[in-house]
Amino acid sequence: MKKTFDELKLTGNLPSPAGVGMKILTLTQKEDFSADDIAKTIQTDPALTGRIIKMANSAAAAGVKVITNVNDAVVRLGARTVRNVALGFSLISAYRQGGCKTFDYQGYWSESLARAVACQTISARKRMGAPSDAYICGLLSGIGRLALACVHPQAYADVLARTTPTTSDLELAGIEHQAFEMDHRELGAAMLRDWHLPDPYAHAIETFAGNPADDPANSDRVSSMLRLLLRVSSAIARLLIGDASNRPALWPQVEVWAKEVQMSTQEFVATCDQIAREWQDWGKTLAIRTSKVDPFTDIAARAAEVSQQAVEQVACTADSAASDDDSDSTPATVDPAIEPLTILAIDDDPVCLKLLLTHLKRTGHTLISAQNGKAGLQAALEHGPHVIITDWMMPEMDGLELVKQIRRIELGKDIHILMLTGREEEDRVVEAFEAGVDDVVTKPFNPRILLSRVSSGERIVRLREQVSTDRRKMEDQVAELAILNRRLNNSSNTDVLTQVANRRYGVAELEDQWNKTQSLAVIMLDLDHFKLVNDTHGHDAGDQVLREAAKVLSANVRKSDTVCRMGGEEFMVILPDATPDEARTVAERLRTALAAHVIRHGSFEGHITASLGVAVRQQGMEHSAALYKAADEAVYASKQTGRNRVSFAA
Ligand code: GH3
Ligand code: MG
Ligand code: MG
Repeated sequence: MKKTFDELKLTGNLPSPAGVGMKILTLTQKEDFSADDIAKTIQTDPALTGRIIKMANSAAAAGVKVITNVNDAVVRLGARTVRNVALGFSLISAYRQGGCKTFDYQGYWSESLARAVACQTISARKRMGAPSDAYICGLLSGIGRLALACVHPQAYADVLARTTPTTSDLELAGIEHQAFEMDHRELGAAMLRDWHLPDPYAHAIETFAGNPADDPANSDRVSSMLRLLLRVSSAIARLLIGDASNRPALWPQVEVWAKEVQMSTQEFVATCDQIAREWQDWGKTLAIRTSKVDPFTDIAARAAEVSQQAVEQVACTADSAASDDDSDSTPATVDPAIEPLTILAIDDDPVCLKLLLTHLKRTGHTLISAQNGKAGLQAALEHGPHVIITDWMMPEMDGLELVKQIRRIELGKDIHILMLTGREEEDRVVEAFEAGVDDVVTKPFNPRILLSRVSSGERIVRLREQVSTDRRKMEDQVAELAILNRRLNNSSNTDVLTQVANRRYGVAELEDQWNKTQSLAVIMLDLDHFKLVNDTHGHDAGDQVLREAAKVLSANVRKSDTVCRMGGEEFMVILPDATPDEARTVAERLRTALAAHVIRHGSFEGHITASLGVAVRQQGMEHSAALYKAADEAVYASKQTGRNRVSFAA
């Protein structure tokens, strides 16, 4: 996974918290950060500063002093909360939209936010870990989906086309695997590790969508707790973001979680009310869509009345929603080379503005206008123009300030800005260029000069567009190559029949682990009387036995262990960092799991057993082959003493 993650990172398209968000994340990971450090970092981002101060004031009780600076806000809210807002805000603002046509970016954030708030609220009420840690986990638990949409926009749209509103997270992961040889859970976990968030977070988001019965046996306390929080919160979030009329029908599935987090129905209902309220509050703070939610006592009461009919109705709505999507014809993209540009003209003098617009009209471009800097900034944010022509001296916000503000935001980096300068500003032209202006034209302007400057600006804009189209194409190719590479790698390392690692990979992995760790154990395993299955029930039945045996083995080891098929009906399991006792326990677990597993294929229905041999790296062993050989000899001992048993290498 490490390798494939690095490949994706190389595309440069993986989501990551922008600027201040990342700085704060890194800062708060250190043991000795101070509230002052945080305040200083936040101050570099005016929008975030505003949000934090507003939040601190709205959190305060009536009559408490109004806060006007970040330092006081950080003290009032606490460093962790501030970190959460910063991280959430910077991710959300950078990824509100993107190139994957069928990925609902707003919906994604709305659900993530609901999950974050639910995690935080339940964690606080039930004293399950630190609430703000739970918040981050909830917010980032689906980040792998966003990442796949960013890295493979086209291919991910195809993946989404194969899902319906009822597709579970786990099913989605299966489809993703077919397309990308990885799924959003693995990718999300790798990203969290890359951001140096604590390992239990990554572990929890990687495993929470699975069946609780398959939970990894070796989870630490924190990740088990986070996994539970994520499961409850996901159920609540789905209910919150879904259609209001479906909530009563969904409620019973949500309510079952009350018991898991040790809440009475009454407490759970009150908790859900609190979550809905806070989801809406956070939605306002982060400008994320949320919806109105009835009191949960009403939802629960209506749930009791909902009949089977209503359940069927849900299925119907889901179906018709899916077919609506199919019929939705996306407009064909127009060749950017012939699309007119959007030009924003800003001047406080109505006569000048009118004159400007009259001349610009001849260019055939789309025109918008504003009469002061503030309105101009608003229009720029709304329309994302290609070119801005602005006056310098204006009330509310002058041209210089406007340009500075525009250059500070992502959307504004590529806009071509032309500034009109009067006689009095002539000496300050350098200042204008420093603020980010691309070109200046003196007022009163000669129309021919102005228009030629506009067309030279147009050339630059088109060129920039071409460069970014080329870059996108290249990024697509890199991403495409990464998939091919992963396929190739996987197929040369995977046993075709059983889909576990093959001998080649197993031997290399053993050597790799040998060089990394002293405490290394190997289990070799040979199925008992396997030939009999082939001879009695046919080769196909034999193949099925091999496939299922591989599945049982894989399901009963840790993620860090490797199961591989060495050939025929022989398997090897590599256990890095295992003590002799642990290795014996694992071998015994594998033996019982195999013996208990019923296999059905054609005329064959029965159990298959195996003889196992365990060897642990000893002082004096010279190479990895010695370890492997010792385990093999122990298998032989198991065969000799009656099969279906575990022997330890002498
Ligand atoms: P023991 O308990 O002593 O291990 O007996 P066994 O029958 O399991 O062992 P033996 O080595 O006699 O037989 C192994 C058989 O596995 C022989 C071979 O035809 C069969 N085999 C090897 N590869 C495959 C395969 O890919 N598919 C199937 N169906 N059979 C295979
Ligand atoms: Mg055998
Ligand atoms: Mg054999």
